[in-house]
Amino acid sequence: TQRTLVLVKPDGVQRGLTGQILARIEAKGYTLAQLELVTATREILERHYEEHQGKPFFEPLVEFMLSGPVVAAVVEGDRVIEGFRSLAGATEPTTAAPGTIRGDLGRDWGEKVQKNLVHGSDSPESAEREIGIWFS
Ligand code: ATP
Repeated sequence: TQRTLVLVKPDGVQRGLTGQILARIEAKGYTLAQLELVTATREILERHYEEHQGKPFFEPLVEFMLSGPVVAAVVEGDRVIEGFRSLAGATEPTTAAPGTIRGDLGRDWGEKVQKNLVHGSDSPESAEREIGIWFS
């Protein structure tokens, strides 16, 4: 089995989509192993997004992630890292495939940040690193 870190970002929580998003994860057959509603800190986000430091969208992204609470979850299942990224859909919500979380529930909002509802780890190494940041 495998585990991944999923975040419902502030746009998802604010729009009241947490339940629908978690329901899709459960309906796919994955298990919620840990679940928490948290207000991030700049320190957490600088660690979480360290690979993006220095990019033009880094600061707006951190500000967006600080704009409200997020739901952090450890999700378990065979090949869940790939599976959740497939459920989430492409980064850009306008063109993410229908049937995915971002494709069905997201769109562009005329800002610099992609408000794309969710985050999922992209490798086993990232998953362990990110779980350590959000659940310590
Ligand atoms: P995630 O890692 O959030 O599941 P992802 O792998 O599709 O999604 P990354 O490339 O890791 O996205 O980027 C992290 C986040 O930064 C994105 O989810 C998005 O919110 C934001 N982002 C990425 N690229 C851009 C961009 N070009 N402009 C604005 N925001 C961006």
